[in-house]
Amino acid sequence: MGTAPGEFEIIRDFFASAPVGEGVALGIGDDCALLQAPASGQLATSMDTLVAGRHFPADADPAAIAARALRVNLSDLAAMNARPLWFTLALTLPDSDAVWLRKFADGLLQTAAQFGVSLVGGDTTAGPLSITIQVIGHTESPLRRDRAGPGDHVYVSGPLGAAAAALPVVLGEQRVNADVQLQCERAFYYPEPQFPVAAAIAELASAALDISDGLLADLGHICESSRVSADIHLERLAVSPLAQTLATEKAMALATGGGDDYQLCFTVPQQRVADLDQLGLKVTAIGTLIEGSTGVRCWHNGNPWSPAVTGYQHF
Ligand code: ADP
Ligand code: MG
Repeated sequence: MGTAPGEFEIIRDFFASAPVGEGVALGIGDDCALLQAPASGQLATSMDTLVAGRHFPADADPAAIAARALRVNLSDLAAMNARPLWFTLALTLPDSDAVWLRKFADGLLQTAAQFGVSLVGGDTTAGPLSITIQVIGHTESPLRRDRAGPGDHVYVSGPLGAAAAALPVVLGEQRVNADVQLQCERAFYYPEPQFPVAAAIAELASAALDISDGLLADLGHICESSRVSADIHLERLAVSPLAQTLATEKAMALATGGGDDYQLCFTVPQQRVADLDQLGLKVTAIGTLIEGSTGVRCWHNGNPWSPAVTGYQHF
């Protein structure tokens, strides 16, 4: 293998060897992949782009970049209670670097194997470093944003704020010891798609999404889609220990306004709450949905609380 493979060598040497998984009649190498859709249910598809300098530092570990790129896409499937099947990769590279590509491909295919999803195609171009992944999954009982109603209880699947607290460390703006550095890299580059929680709540929840832009922004999306409002009580929210150590004063602001944790926010109708409790999931009830268009209102120990940070938005 040379040190500067061309486009066709890149595809052949790093990606075409991806293992062929379930439902792949024809994988990488032809003009299209041929995929066998399951006989019932629905396909779910989603796409996310990660741009160097915006979503990750350009000099970050290629394996970590690959892991994050695939995991954030898988999180969207988890949020819809879809089982991952296939993905495609559009890779834009500033130059052809065999060492970088080997680490990237290994990180990508390892993550793919872990989640049982197979790479079936893509596109390789020259330009500023950017990674676009499209995932396709299958669901028999999708979790949507637009089916919540007044009186439903609002839940979060796990602690929030870790990824936002980790960001300055990952960007090299805040120096910490090696152990905390590792925790920050894990929080930022290796978010855990919440497949088990999604599967457990699929028959109970009225709405769900993954928290990619921040709890208040994303719960706001459920409220808009479902035409309801929310009252949430922040003293109940699980704030990540990493956020508490790294950004003590700002921990609550990061947990409510910071994105990138990829926990689920979901709602459960009052009459199903006992069934949810029976499951013994480690989820936190943070409030309730109400009628009207006040949006998401926050309370802390009974007092109104205004967010210092709102969700991330491009442009
Ligand atoms: P075409 O010219 O027909 O669009 P390409 O030369 O772009 O095809 O790609 C050839 C094959 O390699 C196709 O099957 C395509 O899906 C696959 N491919 C290209 N780039 C990648 C990549 N980065 N990862 C995985 N598969 C890729
Ligand atoms: Mg073609």
